[in-house]
This record gives sequence, structure tokens and C-alpha cells, in this order.
Amino acid sequence: MSYIDCCDWSKCNSCGECLIKCPVMQMDRDEAKFEVSQLLKGKEAKRVFNECTLCFSCNNYCPVEGLRPHELIQQRMLEHRGKAPEYIKYFLNGMPTPTIWNDMYSNMNSEEKEILEKWSKTPSKSAEILWIGCVGKMSCRDIEHSEVLKSLHKFGPTDLCCGELAYRLGSWQAYSDTTERTLKRFEKLDIERMVCYCGSCYNYFHNILPNVYGKKLPFQLISLYQWMWERIEKGELKLKNPLNFKAAISESCYVSELGPEFWETLRKIYNAAGAELVELKHHGYENLFCGTISMARKGNFLSSFLEMYKEQRKKYEEVKDAGVNEMAVNCAGCYIMSSFTNYFHGIKLLYMTDELLMAYGDTITTPIRDHFIIIRKYIMKRMPRLLLHKSYEEFSRISIEGELRPS
Ligand code: SF4
Ligand code: SF4
Repeated sequence: MSYIDCCDWSKCNSCGECLIKCPVMQMDRDEAKFEVSQLLKGKEAKRVFNECTLCFSCNNYCPVEGLRPHELIQQRMLEHRGKAPEYIKYFLNGMPTPTIWNDMYSNMNSEEKEILEKWSKTPSKSAEILWIGCVGKMSCRDIEHSEVLKSLHKFGPTDLCCGELAYRLGSWQAYSDTTERTLKRFEKLDIERMVCYCGSCYNYFHNILPNVYGKKLPFQLISLYQWMWERIEKGELKLKNPLNFKAAISESCYVSELGPEFWETLRKIYNAAGAELVELKHHGYENLFCGTISMARKGNFLSSFLEMYKEQRKKYEEVKDAGVNEMAVNCAGCYIMSSFTNYFHGIKLLYMTDELLMAYGDTITTPIRDHFIIIRKYIMKRMPRLLLHKSYEEFSRISIEGELRPS
């Protein structure tokens, strides 16, 4: 199985709507039809391979029920790219070390390691638990002591993951291994609902897992943003420190996959917390995303980084056109990757998970910008050697039963 096996491609009529409406390429009909027919035949689709940012949006433009042009593009782009460079493996959780996640978790202090050890144990029967993925575990101390989240049992073993990075950076094999390992541990959970700390985990478990991978979790799912909104509506969460900024809403790539139910909740909860919001020219289904996954297009680190920066610049320009210089970001990945470049454009990034938790009474001792400094340190340390490695048809694997713990 791979990305394209989720759809019956004989239903594609090569109408080209996916590429005509694409907010990045906006092709004319003839070009769009030609490029789609090339993709369907497994041949080179020059413009798509050079410009598509793998943003997911075209999945919403296709008039044929159930087709996912993004997955077709991703599959063909990877076939065209051929081997995967070693540095990509460094960003995938659940792969043989070194990985950025193992570097981060292994170098935590003893209090943080104890928290992660505690979160690795299967919680007892609960109505709701909080699932904490790769990025959230970096904030384990603040989450563990959170007032807002205190009613939720926390769960997030270091070897488990929603599989997003493997999927997006182009290793179906690593995505499948990680997903199987995670599903096996989820079988032991006796819960009614899982609250996903990270919106991306929510997208992967709620959307990609059933709609692409073909499996469904036996409990309900909700994102942290939606869970907080539920509690605000019931009067269970009270605003303590109103947000005091005017910012443009920057939506991540998965927002178009989750649709209005998710993006309207973001706006409602930001507003309720006191933030003044402005809209970017491209938002919702036309969203331009942070560009990070443009890095999956090429096998060369430097040119991949430049591809990402090209997309980020477009977003920064839209923020300025909206008359502000602050950007409210709902995704840790968008925040971290934009942190490499925002400074040069005078754009301030606001990581809304932290901002909202503080607004409703939490203390954030280690904001995400501090994690970014550590992440950058490890990338600088590891990357020169990783760039010297050869590329692989398939990455080496660890057993699906295998467990990684912070050493
Ligand atoms: S994934 Fe995004 S950039 Fe690529 S074709 Fe679809 S809408 Fe366009
Ligand atoms: S994937 Fe959908 S929108 Fe794109 S060409 Fe095929 S039928 Fe048309």
C-alpha cells in the first residue's frame, strides 16, 4: 500500500480542476489537464514537480467524491525524486537514532524524563485522555502542571507518533510502521475520547488514518482547540489574562483538510481570548501554507530550504498587506520552520497553543521559541554529517514492537 491506494483513480476524468484552482499554480485548463494525465500515467509532470507545495488544498477542489489529488501528486513526486536523503530520517519519530526527537528527549532534565516515563504508561479507564505527540512532549513540564489541562490523564510514549512527518516527508514505510506501532498501543486504551494536544495529530488520527490508511480508532477524537472551546461555552474555562494583540491568522496546511468546523473554532477561541484578528488574502480552502513540505520535493537540503523560504515569503507579504506584523500560528511546525526566517521580514510569530493556555490561566515556563533554540542547535550539530550520507531507497527500520525511551 502507498499514498495513491486510497482512491480509485479510474474515476479521475482529468478535468484539471485540482490544478486550475490550486492557489499556488493556478494553471490554465489545457496545462492542468496535461499535467494531471502525466501524473495518472506515472510520467513527469514538470510544473507540479517543481512548484506544488503539497499543501493538501486540492483535495477540496476535486468534484469527484473520494479522490485525493494531493496523494497522487505526493506519490508521483516521490517516485520522480527516487531515493530519500538521510537527513529526512533525522526528523522522523520512531526511526533508528539519531532523530531530532530522541536528541531532544534524551537531553531533558530528570524531572522532564520522569514526566515522559509517566506518560508512557497506559492510563487507567478514563472518559477522556490528553494525547501528547512529538512536539508537545518538549513542553512536558508545563503540560503536566497545567491548570487548564488538569482534568485530563496525559498519554504520550516517546516511540509513538501520529506519523505526520514520515507521511509528509515522503516515507510511506516509516508512516506505516509508526502508525502500526501506535495503533497496537492504542488497543490497550479504555477511553471514550482522546483530546489531541497538537492539531496535526488530530488531522492524522481523525482524517488521514481513516481516509488514506483505511483504519479507524475505536474512540472519539477532538483537538485541543475544540476541547477548550467546548469548555469555554459551558463556562468551565474562565479568561484570566486576555490576549492583547492584533494579528493575522496563519492557518497550517491541515486546516483545509479539517474544514470550517476546525478553522471557525480557531477564530472563535482566539476572539474569545481577546485577540484582534485580521484575515490573510488566502485562507480556508485557498490557504497558502508555511512551505515546510516543499522541502520534500527535492533531495537537496539547501535547495529544499530555499523552496520553503520562497513560500514563507509569500505569507509574510500577505501579513504585511493585511496591515499587521504579528502572525497567529496554530501549528508548532509552522512556528518552528518560520522561526528560521520571520526575523528578516519583521514578522512576530505567536504560537497560539501557548497563548491560549496562558490566557486561560496557565504559566508557560518554556515557550516554544526556547525549544526552537534547542532544535536549531541539534540541527546544526547533526546536519553536516547527515548531508554526507548517501540516499536510500528505503530507510532502515526498527521493529514495530520496539520502544524508544529517553536515555
Ligand atoms: S497540493 Fe497544494 S500546491 Fe499542490 S497542487 Fe494541490 S493545491 Fe496546489
Ligand atoms: S483529481 Fe479530481 S479535480 Fe483533479 S483531474 Fe482528477 S477528477 Fe479532476
